[in-house]
Amino acid sequence: MAGETPVDRMELPRPDVTADEAAHILAEHYHLSGTLSELGSQQDRNYQLTSDSGRYVLKICHAAYETQELEAQIAALAHLRAIDGAPRVPSVVPTADGQEIVDVLVRDQTYKVRLLGYLEGESLKDAQRLPQAAISALGALCARLALALSDFNHPGLDRNLQWDLRRAGPVAVQLLSAITDGAARDRIAKAMVAAVRRIQPLAPHLRVQAVHHDVTADNVVGKVNEAGLLIPDGVIDFGDIISGWRAGDLAVTCAALLHQTGGNPFDMLPAIAAYHAIYPLEEVEAKALWPLIVARAVILVASSEQQLAVDPQNDYVLGNLAAERQIFDVATGMSFDLMEAAILQATGFAPAAPDTSSWSAIFPNLQNEIAFLDLSIDGPHFVDGNWREPDFDWRLLARTASETGAAATRYGEYRLSRAAPLSAGEPASFALHSDLCLPARTSIAAPFAGRISWNNQHLILNGDMLSLHLDGIETDLEGEAVVEAGQLLGAVSGEEGALGGLRLQLCQPDLADPPLFATSREAGAWTILCPSMKHLLGASAEAQQPDDAQSLALRQAHFAAPQKHYYATPPQIERGWREYLFDVKGRAYLDMVNNVTILGHGHPYIAEVAAAQWQKLNTNSRFHYGLVAEFSARLASLAPEGLDTVFLVNSGSEANDLALRLAWAHTGARNMLCLLEAYHGWSVASDAISTSIADNPRALETRPAWVHAIACPNTYRGEFRGENAAEAYLQAARSKLDLIELSGAGLAGFICEAVYGSAGGLRLPAGYLAGIYQEVRARGGLCIADEVQVGYGRLGDHFWGFEEQGVRPDIITLAKCMGNGHPLGAVITTKEIAASLEREGYFFSSSGGSPVSCAVGMAVLDVMQADNLQENARQIGAHLRSRLEALAEKHPLLGAVHGMGLYLGAEFVRDAETLEPATHETALICERLLELGVIMQPTGDHLNILKIKPPLCISRDSADFFIDMLDMTLLELA
Ligand code: PMP
Repeated sequence: MAGETPVDRMELPRPDVTADEAAHILAEHYHLSGTLSELGSQQDRNYQLTSDSGRYVLKICHAAYETQELEAQIAALAHLRAIDGAPRVPSVVPTADGQEIVDVLVRDQTYKVRLLGYLEGESLKDAQRLPQAAISALGALCARLALALSDFNHPGLDRNLQWDLRRAGPVAVQLLSAITDGAARDRIAKAMVAAVRRIQPLAPHLRVQAVHHDVTADNVVGKVNEAGLLIPDGVIDFGDIISGWRAGDLAVTCAALLHQTGGNPFDMLPAIAAYHAIYPLEEVEAKALWPLIVARAVILVASSEQQLAVDPQNDYVLGNLAAERQIFDVATGMSFDLMEAAILQATGFAPAAPDTSSWSAIFPNLQNEIAFLDLSIDGPHFVDGNWREPDFDWRLLARTASETGAAATRYGEYRLSRAAPLSAGEPASFALHSDLCLPARTSIAAPFAGRISWNNQHLILNGDMLSLHLDGIETDLEGEAVVEAGQLLGAVSGEEGALGGLRLQLCQPDLADPPLFATSREAGAWTILCPSMKHLLGASAEAQQPDDAQSLALRQAHFAAPQKHYYATPPQIERGWREYLFDVKGRAYLDMVNNVTILGHGHPYIAEVAAAQWQKLNTNSRFHYGLVAEFSARLASLAPEGLDTVFLVNSGSEANDLALRLAWAHTGARNMLCLLEAYHGWSVASDAISTSIADNPRALETRPAWVHAIACPNTYRGEFRGENAAEAYLQAARSKLDLIELSGAGLAGFICEAVYGSAGGLRLPAGYLAGIYQEVRARGGLCIADEVQVGYGRLGDHFWGFEEQGVRPDIITLAKCMGNGHPLGAVITTKEIAASLEREGYFFSSSGGSPVSCAVGMAVLDVMQADNLQENARQIGAHLRSRLEALAEKHPLLGAVHGMGLYLGAEFVRDAETLEPATHETALICERLLELGVIMQPTGDHLNILKIKPPLCISRDSADFFIDMLDMTLLELA
C-alpha cells in the first residue's frame, strides 16, 4: 500500500452510506430488494438484506482499500469453499453484470462494494461467557481455518494492517499518540514494551502463512448440539486476512476469549489445546503465544481509543471498549512466566524434569522412613466432615509422625481439606509443597550448591536450576552465605526428643513468593514453576494424579452406553458429605438434584448401621428375622388407614412393576391410564407406562396397546390453564376412560405422581386427583400413587404427595430415599389387593427386605425423625421458593416456579406470552452452575425446567448459595 500507513486508514470514519442509499446500490447492481438492517463494523458500513431470494450482507468500504486486498478476501472464500473439512464460510454474490467488487459513487464519494451470502447459524457474540465446549470448539475452528488456508496465497495478503502482530510495537506507538489519559497511555505503553521484549527473540522463528486473524465470537456462527450447547462451525468477516504469524492468528482468538471466559485466562487454555490437536504449534510458537495475546490486548484497547477520537459516535467501538478493557486488564494482570508454563503444558511442550542426579540427601542422618499421608479426596482418614476441623491435616501429620517417627504430606495432591463448599470459584487445593513432621534437631543438608537468601523466616537456597524454600529450619547461616552441595544448612527446629515441623518447596529461581496451593486449572502450569518434591524426598512424595478422562474412557468402554451420565465432561465425584459432593480435584459441589440421598451423603450413622448388620446377618425374607417385620410395620404405620400390607423390593421400577401386577391381578383387566411426560421405571411394565420423551425420545411411538396416556394437567403451559383447568383435564380423562370402556377390555387402574416430578415438580390442579380417582374407581380400576420421588417428607407440608390432593390411593409405591441410596423399594397396599396376587402365585425378591436393607430403612426413618427433616424441607423449601419467585420478577427468562417443599421446578421460557421453552438456555445454565459449584439438571419434555430436589438436610446457606449462583448465571445470560 504505497505511502500509506495503517493508521492513516484507521483515521477515516466509516463510509457514510444510508440504508436508502444501500438499497439503491442493491437494486442497481444486484437487482435485489428487501428489508435492510445495519450490522456493526469498526471501519466499514455493512447492511444485512433480507429478500425473497434469501439473506445477504452488503459490505461497503472506503475506496482507500486496495482492490487487491478485497480480491484476496474473495479468493480466500472461494479457496475455503472448495476444501473438505474447512469451516463454513459465506459465498460471494456477483453483481448482475458479473463483478465481485464494484465501485459506487455516493454523494461524491467513491466506495467499494461487495455482496456476500448470509452465513446461517447462531451468533456467539452475545454470550457473556462461553461454556468449555464452545471454547474448545472455537480453538478447533481457528485451527481448521488456518490449516485450510495454509496453502492459500494471494498478493493482496501482504498488507499494511494495523492488526498484524508482527508490527505490534510500531503500531502501538502510533496509536498511543491519540490517547489523552496519561495514566492509561503509560499502562498501555508498559504492557506493550513487556510483550515485545518477550516476542522479539522468538520472532524470527515464528511461521508465517495466510491467516484470518479475527476468529472470535463476533465473527463465527454455529449450531446447537445435542447437549443444547452452541458450537461454532462457520466463519465470517475476512476483513483482516493477511499473511501473518500463525501464532498471532491464534493469539487473536485467545485474547477475545479472555473476555468471554469471565476473566480467568486459564479458561481459554482448552482453545489452545484444541487448536494444537488439529494443527500443531511449534514450541517457539507456544512460547510466543501469551506475549502475542498481551500485544493483541494492547492494540485492541489502543485502537478503540484512537478510533473514538475520530468517530466518537461509533456505537460499535463504544460497545466493544468495556470488553477490550477487561481483556487488557486480564492479559496484563498475569505473570508471563505462569502463562507461558500454562500454554506449554496445554500443548505438551512442558520442559523435561530437572536433572537431579547429582543432588545429595537433604536429611543425611534421618533413620526413619518417611510415611506419606493420603490427604486426597480418597483419603482413608476422612469421615463426616472431620477434614473441616481447623488444622486437621497437620494434626494427622503429627499423629502419624508420633507413630512412625517421620511423616510428610504429598506434593501434587488435591487435598480434601482445601475443598470449600459453597464457593463460586475453584479452590486452590493442589499442594505445591510438602509439610514434614520429623524428630526435632534432624540435620538438614543442602541438596545442591547455592547462595542463601531470606524471605522473612524462610531460608531460600538459590541454586542454578532451582531454589529450595525451607520454613521451620534452625540455622546459624547468615546473610547471603554460599553453600556447597551436602553442606549442613541447619536442623529441624524444636526441643531434642520432640517432633518439629518443616515446610519444603522447590521453585524456579526468581519466583519470590510461590503459592503453597494451586487450583486444578493452574496446577499444570505451577508444576513447571514449582517442581515436584519427589526430586528431594523420593517417588512417594508425589501424589498420583487423578485421571478423570481415563476413568471416563473406561466407563465408556465397558459400562453400556444407554446408561447416560450427567454433563458432556463430568467431574469425577468420589466423595459426598451432607448436601455436598467432591470431585477428585478437590472441587466441592452443592448437590441440588439428589433426591435419593435425603439424609445427605456419606452419612456416618447409616454406614455404621449397615456395617453392623452385615457383620451380624444378611439373608432373605424367606427366613424369619425381626427386622423385616419391624420395618414393614413401621412403613404401614406411615400410610393411611387400611394400607397396612407391605412388599419389599429394591427399586422404584420394581415397586411400580409390582403395583401393575397387583392391579392386573386384582381387577382381572389390563388397561392402564397414565399421564404424558411420566417416568415410572425401566422394567418392562414400568417402562411401558413411562411416556417422558426427555427420558426416552421414542417413548410415544413405542407404548404397548394397554397403555393409555392422557395429557399432563399442566396449568402453566398445557392445553387448559386458569381456573377451570382441573375440570377440563378431567373431562379429557373421562373421554379416554370412555374409550377404554367401549373397548370392553376393562380398566386395571391409573398411576401418576401426585406432585408431578418428571414434568418439573408441577402441582396438579386442586381436585384433579380426587376427580380422576373417582372416575377410575367407578370403572373398577385401582389408583396407584407413585411416591418414589415426591413422597417421604420431601414436600414439607406433607409426608406423602397424595395428601396434597386430599386423596387416598389403593397402592403406594416408594423407593429412592427410603434407603438414602441403599437399594430399597416398597409397595404398600391393602390385604385384599395383596391377596389377589397370591391367587396367581407367590412373590419373592432375593434381596428385597434383607436384614441389611431393613436395618438401613429403619435407620433412615430414625434420622429423618431425629433431625426433623420433613420440617427442614418445609422451611428451606418455602425459602427457596420465595427466592426463586423474586428471581422470576427480575429475570424474564424464569417463567414459572413450580412445586413445593424440596421438590421445586424453575421453568425457563423465551417469551412470557408464547412460553417458547428456553431449552438451550437451560442447558447453558446447568453447565455454568457446574462451573460455579452447583449440580443441577434440566427436566420436563422440553428440558427447560431445573429440577430442584436436594437432600432434605440442606442448609439455608446452601439454598441461598444456589439462588445466588442462579441469579449470577441469569445475569450473565441476559
Ligand atoms: N418412579 C419415579 C417417579 C421415578 O422418578 C423413578 C426414578 N427416577 C422411578 C419410579 C424408578 O425408580 P428406580 O430408578 O429406583 O427404579
